[in-house]
Amino acid sequence: MPLPYTAKQLQAAVHTGFSVALKCSGGSNASYIPYLASVDPNLIAVTIVTVDGNTFAAGDSQYQFAIESISKVFTLALVMDQVGSPALRAKVGANPTGMPFNSVMALELAKGKPMSPLVNAGAISTASLVSGKTPDERWQKILATQSAFAGRDLVLSSEINQSEQTTNFHNRAIAWLLYSAGTCYSDPIEALDIYTRQCSTLISTTDLAVMGATLANKGKNPITGKQVIGAENVRHILAEMMMEGLYTASGDFAYTVGLPGKSGVGGGILAVAPGKLAIAGFSPPLDANGNSVRGQAAVKSIAEELKLNLFEA
Ligand code: GLN
Repeated sequence: MPLPYTAKQLQAAVHTGFSVALKCSGGSNASYIPYLASVDPNLIAVTIVTVDGNTFAAGDSQYQFAIESISKVFTLALVMDQVGSPALRAKVGANPTGMPFNSVMALELAKGKPMSPLVNAGAISTASLVSGKTPDERWQKILATQSAFAGRDLVLSSEINQSEQTTNFHNRAIAWLLYSAGTCYSDPIEALDIYTRQCSTLISTTDLAVMGATLANKGKNPITGKQVIGAENVRHILAEMMMEGLYTASGDFAYTVGLPGKSGVGGGILAVAPGKLAIAGFSPPLDANGNSVRGQAAVKSIAEELKLNLFEA
């Protein structure tokens, strides 16, 4: 079925979203990862990619930023394909935590079960499930999955990776807590190393919108035509995004935007309108929940203009 929008409408929605976002201010770059603190806070970009493979962009849409937590979605997709959704749900969980993305308390309250693959604990646990003989083989599978979603070979930024690996003390504690509870399924330091690398790849909003459009298109990349993951898993991934994709603001996002989304502390944000398109935004300053202030504004504006809310009949 053709999309109910003309190219002109889609481009106009991107431009409106971009100018609405430009008028927003506030927030600040993540500072606990030194690299992220150094990124120009004025960079801003918005891209839409449709399930029929058309791209509409505004701003610095070729600028490459750290994927950070958005990577959790793609490792989740890989592991769900490898072990199946029931096993992954049993081992990691599929519920919102209602707590910050790096919460130790959430883990303690659930007796060491991470609850969601989209918080740090759950993502480290999920990374520990990637199959492969060596840590490098497992890492290469994650990178290949991110690349297949993006439709081009993504690369790890050694600068970002170095910045994260030398400051991730809080995540090291989480990895050991998981291990002691039996919910880290490989050596915890290895799992953390892989997780930290997966957060350190570089993407533009255009890459991110293609990655999201692949989810919108039942797991088939609309640019390359490649089926990246099993179509049957997409609904589970999108449900996880709806519940936990924006952490403590996931409920607000569902209430106001009505789309599955995912943010990262690098300033990226993704929203997926199943069967239609994906919206990707980027702007480094974050609010108190760790979500891009301007990115959320752009996504909200576009979702409203194109009437994408899933809860609207
Ligand atoms: N690499 C970051 C961390 O582990 C990712 C967090 C995020 O983007 N919310 O803290």
